[in-house]
Amino acid sequence: MLISAKRLTEFVEAIISKGSGNPQAAAQVSRHLVEANLCGHDSHGVGVIPLYLEAIQEGQLHTDAKLEVVQDKGPFLQVDGNRGFGQVIARQAMELAIEKARTNHIAVLSLRNSFHIGRIGAWGTMAAEAGFISMHYVNVLSPNSIVAPFGGTEARFATNPYCTAIPATDRHPMFLFDMATSTIAMGKARVAYNKGVEVPDNSLVDHEGNPTNDPAVMFEEPIGALQTMGLHKGFGMALICDILAGSFSGGGAFLPERIVPSRVVNNMLAILIDPNVFGGAENFFGDIDNYADWVKSSPPATGVDEVMFPGDPERKSRADREANGVPIDDNTWAQLLAWAEAVGIEDGEVSRMIG
Ligand code: NAD
Repeated sequence: MLISAKRLTEFVEAIISKGSGNPQAAAQVSRHLVEANLCGHDSHGVGVIPLYLEAIQEGQLHTDAKLEVVQDKGPFLQVDGNRGFGQVIARQAMELAIEKARTNHIAVLSLRNSFHIGRIGAWGTMAAEAGFISMHYVNVLSPNSIVAPFGGTEARFATNPYCTAIPATDRHPMFLFDMATSTIAMGKARVAYNKGVEVPDNSLVDHEGNPTNDPAVMFEEPIGALQTMGLHKGFGMALICDILAGSFSGGGAFLPERIVPSRVVNNMLAILIDPNVFGGAENFFGDIDNYADWVKSSPPATGVDEVMFPGDPERKSRADREANGVPIDDNTWAQLLAWAEAVGIEDGEVSRMIG
């Protein structure tokens, strides 16, 4: 299934709007999700809509919740998302943090208790487009622990993403490093399972801790776990995310008592910094330009077209998918059609939207 981003956005916006009764939020959420698909992150694209709609039905996602400022002290801002749509809450929280960074040269934002905030790169991009370096530590309180600690067999936490964004220079596009601290995001295991394909090495362990490439271990008993990326180093990063995003914000690190069915909460610590404070922005960006040229001049390995910088794969994906359409796997498409029917969108209307 290949569909244009425009048609896909219209279709999923209608589903979310009917399913949530909040058309304004639906517009923001659908744009964010289709943007994730365009960037090549299908794990955080429209495939999460069934999860959101189930959470609405279960009373776990509060469709009209508003962001609440808990503390506002100089450069520090603590906000509570009241389990509202993460795409709405995180955008508003980032807007407030950007305003703070304009005044103080730095902003430290602690966002707690938001429903799933999606692709963290979207929030890094907002800060970098406003002219700031930004670092984002995020933890996930999901209905199941899904990532095993290094050296362990049972999962103890979730895919805790990390992101750093640095504004574009005169000669290079924005640096956008945005990753799950597991080797693959859970959504990538879901996409592989839906497609019936294997996942890369070092991504999963079975219930006994043996490495496996079969994504079924995440969806069929006996359940296995995702592995942290980079062995003990990714494990350390995952713990930092739970501690800085979770414990520090008050939203909490992953603990069994915080597990609630159908609830996916993200907490985020974001630090925004004015690039002009030390050596001056001109020197900073000039040095990045020289550095990027130097790093990218490394001759590519066999089978590799070019050395890339973080953010380049997403830009390539976007160029391709904007030109040729967004691929949606069959299972995800079937789920979206089923939800369209469940929320009361008539077949004729679906056909008109998807063409
Ligand atoms: P990934 O492994 O595809 O990419 C990670 C980073 O590596 C990106 O910045 C990418 O630009 C860079 N990269 C990839 N290939 C590269 C190459 N060949 N050369 C240079 N750089 C390269 O990403 P992921 O870990 O699968 O994460 C996917 C998305 O999932 C992210 O957007 C993340 O924010 C999101 N996520 C969200 C949550 C949540 O709870 N909200 C949880 C986990 C992940």
